[in-house]
Amino acid sequence: MKTRALAVHHANDPLVAWEFDRRQLRAGDVALDITYAGICHSDIHQAREEWGPALFPMVPGHEIVGIVRKVGPSVTKFSVGDRIGVGVFIDSCRTCVNCLAGLQQYCLEGMTGTYNQLERDGVTLAQGGYSNLFVIDQDYAVHVPENLDMAGVAPLLCAGITLYSPLKHWGAKAGMKVGVMGLGGLGHMGVKFAAALGAEVTVFSHSPSKEADAKAMGAHHFVMTKDPSNLKAEEGTFDLILNTVSAELDINTYLNLLKLDGTLVVIGLPGKPYSVHVGTLLGARRSMAGSMIGGIPELQEMLDFCGVHNITSDVEVIKADYVNIAYERTVASDVKYRFVIDAQTI
Ligand code: NAP
Ligand code: ZN
Ligand code: ZN
Repeated sequence: MKTRALAVHHANDPLVAWEFDRRQLRAGDVALDITYAGICHSDIHQAREEWGPALFPMVPGHEIVGIVRKVGPSVTKFSVGDRIGVGVFIDSCRTCVNCLAGLQQYCLEGMTGTYNQLERDGVTLAQGGYSNLFVIDQDYAVHVPENLDMAGVAPLLCAGITLYSPLKHWGAKAGMKVGVMGLGGLGHMGVKFAAALGAEVTVFSHSPSKEADAKAMGAHHFVMTKDPSNLKAEEGTFDLILNTVSAELDINTYLNLLKLDGTLVVIGLPGKPYSVHVGTLLGARRSMAGSMIGGIPELQEMLDFCGVHNITSDVEVIKADYVNIAYERTVASDVKYRFVIDAQTI
């Protein structure tokens, strides 16, 4: 099926218009007309090979919403006209212990990414959401609540679930102090979810201009990280800190902010290893953990939670011809708070 897209042909090249074919529908497949696709910082890391060698041509995009255009003969989960979402992976082995537990992102054979990866046939290069059309197995897509704005939903498919999952796993609730490092696409969703779950929320940001927005999203406190004395004052007080920063930083400064038994969850992935002072960990039985997106059942749970609490991402909707400028602005932390491509302009 002819598909219009924005593609990168070599690492660090700009995105350009490109056409390719998506597969005809298999029995359990759904075809969707994409309405919006979010720009995640992971798209930029991969298009620029900041995580190592990548596969080109690459159509990035794993925050995808659209309307079902056509369904295969054995599809029961979706009907033509449904609002549908696709996230960071399109398949997995389906049989390992993690897949059976609904944690497909931790598939023991490796999840099949939405792009920059071969599909499970070992031949077809998966192509992502900066395009007008998508084809996916029904088991790896989710329903979008009717009451939510579609553009604001697109970023939930990665940024949203990536913060919702650790907040639920580490039990964020009233009475807990939760810190969110970096107020970008991921971070701003973390603030909204942590506040909705009743926690006391602090944003750690190197952009003083974001304070008013952070408070409007539900943050109770805003700490400007450029002045180290601001961080010193917070030492030993946090139950949970979620690090969404896309750049390298000294993680020990933030581990010190945890109280006894507190956990710092690493989510941002700049691509270089951290140096950790273990004394900082054992001095207060602190933990440092990681978390990656969420499985299909939790992705649906998060979208339903957003429907009930009326939560969407704060987005700047752009046309296809603005995408390269949007990349530069994202890298410069100049994003409020997610760029979303109007896919019909591709
Ligand atoms: P983003 O929108 O660019 O936000 C990142 C934020 O980090 C910026 O807005 C900025 O916040 C802060 N930051 C950036 N450069 C900085 C610097 N030099 N010093 C201090 N702070 C800086 O990116 P995103 O899309 O939210 O993604 C964030 C990271 O998470 C990326 O590395 C991405 O690859 C990763 N990611 C991980 C997962 C997962 O499953 N674990 C999923 C998706 C993405 P302030 O201006 O507020 O300081
Ligand atoms: Zn992402
Ligand atoms: Zn598996």
